Amino acid sequence: MAKNIWVFCEQRDGELQSVALELLGIARELAEKTGEKVGAILLGHNISAKAGELIAYGADEVHVVDDEKLASFVTEPYTQAVTQIAREYTPSVILFGATSIGRDLAPRLSARLKTGLTADCTKLEMDEEGNLFMTRPAFGGNLFATIICPDHRPQMSTVRPGVMKKLERDDSRAGEVIAENIAWDESKFAVTVLEEVKEVSGVDKIEDAKILVSCGRGVKDVAPARELAGKVGGSLASSRALVDTGVLEHNRQVGQTGKTVRPEAYLAFGISGAIQHLAGMEESEFIVAVNTDKNAPIFKVANLGIVSDAAAVLKNLNKLI
Ligand SMILES: Cc1cc2nc3c(=O)[nH]c(=O)nc-3n(C[C@H](O)[C@H](O)[C@H](O)COP(=O)(O)OP(=O)(O)OC[C@H]3O[C@@H](n4cnc5c(N)ncnc54)[C@H](O)[C@@H]3O)c2cc1C
Repeated sequence: MAKNIWVFCEQRDGELQSVALELLGIARELAEKTGEKVGAILLGHNISAKAGELIAYGADEVHVVDDEKLASFVTEPYTQAVTQIAREYTPSVILFGATSIGRDLAPRLSARLKTGLTADCTKLEMDEEGNLFMTRPAFGGNLFATIICPDHRPQMSTVRPGVMKKLERDDSRAGEVIAENIAWDESKFAVTVLEEVKEVSGVDKIEDAKILVSCGRGVKDVAPARELAGKVGGSLASSRALVDTGVLEHNRQVGQTGKTVRPEAYLAFGISGAIQHLAGMEESEFIVAVNTDKNAPIFKVANLGIVSDAAAVLKNLNKLI
């Protein structure tokens, strides 16, 4: 019988990705409901030493495949590795980050394991029988659909970075590290990585910022917002309106088709608060909204609302700070 909640723990250049730790956090919560174990899958080359970190963040057992063939992410070897381990241990759930790697790997794996996959989940819950309730935005984000996979195992889901919360690191946690050997079918390896060229992005990662100064269509000049972000040690973010018009880069977009963020403070200037925008920022710890329209939906999620001209408030804040 299928059992245990697994997380595919993504690493890049030997560094565990934050989403992997966030997924271990929600996996722990789900596992507590059914009394199952949390399993982590760690693939790569020279990465075994990272297993302890996964245990500290909530894994009970870590299945490691440390192999030269997994040095760079290539779909086929990664799929073969996870498929073989999943067939052997039959987990009840496997969670993936909705990253470029997770979005490539999870669908292929679900096809090989003949099960379903729910992409971009924003909420995961479990009943005592071990059925996973996977909630995600549907119809352009205007409603939320909860999807179940009652007839097939494992139940599979991807979750975007920033949606779930990681646990506090606890180095006293104990867990088991299991080194797995894979019987590779190299005849299926159609892709070889010859060289990796990294794009250097000029944009700081908005997902990591503690303070975000975010601009919408109501901001006519983003320079004062950029200045404020610099002064408070934060980053500049954006609604889709300013990305679509080419004012700000897509990497700064918050929302359903942008990034999910949960900073300590989210300052929204001239943003109406469309549901697709709220989906990416409503978990922020403290939200300040500045909008000339007192009925703007952003005020429903704001801790502090200022009905005023965004440019005037930005000017005053820059003068004060
Ligand atoms: C499938 C889909 C996915 C989407 N994904 C995203 C997404 O990821 N992120 C996202 O942001 N949107 C997304 N959208 C678009 C979303 O529906 C909204 O159109 C968008 O968020 C609006 O951006 P905005 O709030 O900046 O602009 P508007 O909705 O035009 O709001 C501008 C606001 O500024 C206020 N304002 C005007 N002048 C001033 C002033 N001088 N001072 C202060 N306030 C002022 C206005 O009162 C208004 O509330 C998506 C839409 C769809 C259909």
